[in-house]
Amino acid sequence: NKTQSSHFIRNIIMDDIKEGRAQHVVTRFPPEPNGYLHIGHAKSICLNFGIADEFQGRTHLRFDDTNPTKEDTEYVESIKEDVKWLGFDWEALYFASDYFEEMYARAVLLIRKGKAYVDDQTAEEIRLSRGSFEEPGKESPYRNRSVEENLELFERMRKGEFKDGEKVLRAKIDMASPNINMRDPVLYRIAHATHHNTGDKWCIYPMYDFAHPLEDAIEGVTHSLCTTEFEDHRPLYDWVVAECEMEHVPRQYEFGRLNLTNTVMSKRKLKLLVDEKVVDGWDDPRMPTISGLRRRGYTPEAIRAFVTETGVSKGSGVVDTRMLEYFVREDLKLKAPRTMGVVKPLKVVITNYPEGQVEWLDAEINPENPDMGMRQIPFSREIYIEQDDFMENPPSKYFRLFPGNEVRLKHAYFIKCEDVVKDQNGNVIEIHCTYDPETKSGSGFTGRKVKGTIHWVEASHAVPAEFRLYEPLILDEEMESSDQFLNHLNPNSLQISNGFVEPDMKNVKGHDKFQFFRHGYFNVDPKHTTADQIVFNLIVSLKSSFDI
Ligand code: ATP
Ligand code: MG
Ligand code: MG
Repeated sequence: NKTQSSHFIRNIIMDDIKEGRAQHVVTRFPPEPNGYLHIGHAKSICLNFGIADEFQGRTHLRFDDTNPTKEDTEYVESIKEDVKWLGFDWEALYFASDYFEEMYARAVLLIRKGKAYVDDQTAEEIRLSRGSFEEPGKESPYRNRSVEENLELFERMRKGEFKDGEKVLRAKIDMASPNINMRDPVLYRIAHATHHNTGDKWCIYPMYDFAHPLEDAIEGVTHSLCTTEFEDHRPLYDWVVAECEMEHVPRQYEFGRLNLTNTVMSKRKLKLLVDEKVVDGWDDPRMPTISGLRRRGYTPEAIRAFVTETGVSKGSGVVDTRMLEYFVREDLKLKAPRTMGVVKPLKVVITNYPEGQVEWLDAEINPENPDMGMRQIPFSREIYIEQDDFMENPPSKYFRLFPGNEVRLKHAYFIKCEDVVKDQNGNVIEIHCTYDPETKSGSGFTGRKVKGTIHWVEASHAVPAEFRLYEPLILDEEMESSDQFLNHLNPNSLQISNGFVEPDMKNVKGHDKFQFFRHGYFNVDPKHTTADQIVFNLIVSLKSSFDI
């Protein structure tokens, strides 16, 4: 286990405990169930669960489900699955919607104290009247309604007497505050919509800035960790806790968001990719979602190690996706069996090898982890090699197969290209080679050397397989801040190829992971693999210029 370098959140908690401001640590991970979790959420999950664990505290999984039009139980279920898969377990499961009655009561309390009022202005009028950095806001003509009138209107809002957008409840704070969040923020809005948890019981819903601090206070959260775009909301957070007279006082702290190169992260954008059918669902292996990464073949260990390495700070940089790839290679290096697979096959006939004969060769399962033992692979007169490993007219420094050249077949023999068979259009369809029995792998042959070693699969035992090769979804490194990302999609983000794998792959199951010699790490796709068709997802290629 890598020792984590200390970060400012850990320091804050240590000070809080040392100085008696907190006796224990309670954190929460509060996703809104309006999409699937992505790797940015993994950062928040690791931080919240990790830090509570360090201080023998607890973490709540809480669904921040205050926006019925965008939320769904499908998302609730996927979020639970993803948090568990990442290796975390929540103390208890909470839904913000379970607190609607209490939130309503606290809003009534604010009205009674003259700290909230019902406003009849439209959303647009309210937005404009809140002003800007340069300009103070303008008070609403409804700001000075009496407590009695506000109480009555708010109750009628709850009863469903008004249409969506007709009225809102606003906090009465300060329209001239330098912090625009404090210029009478909206606390409740009307939405006649069916909620995934409360059904049609409510038609008014609390806004995030009102609901979130109350949720934290109700649950006894001590350290409410969110991302830095909420830094300016903190005075409002504290205002709500204080003015609603919450017994427990939680504190909000902000850390920088995680973004990755060559993808987008926000759920709104990911949902667009799903809705526009750019990808095949939230768990498409190209998606930066937890479920996509899982289907691609990423392990929870790799994701956690990556997230830890990115650290916790106030700044939110764009992290190179190659760093994530580095961690999955590191994790799979000793775990994944090595094997050979031909992605784009070319038939080779070894003309001097006896017809009908098959021999079984010994091969290590993982030379870096000898405990994994040995496997046996067949060899005979007909094999497949990679189309790219043959060139009729090669450039200099091409050390693979070409007419007259000799290469080593991994785990087998040297073969020499003697002849090329073409179809009517001049395409190479078969290569004829001879092999040298003296050169058998493991025999200690030193008579001559060859410069190229290539992989292969014996033809009569070969198992057909589909390979799905992936490239980044987005060509540009940074697209998170742009709404133009749909115009910057990589047309080659998925390439499908049909090839062959070793015979003992016949019985693989979804999520089995392998390192294909010279190609990279692959995961058996759990969705598309059937009894007759194995589908492999490229997790990551072997080589990278990236190192940490
Ligand atoms: P998105 O914009 O992707 O929808 P969100 O912040 O609206 O993200 P929530 O469901 O509200 O999504 O997020 C739950 C928690 O995860 C929040 O505390 C949020 O701060 C955190 N979180 C979301 N995205 C990231 C990210 N990219 N990096 C770190 N933490 C994140
Ligand atoms: Mg949110
Ligand atoms: Mg969001």
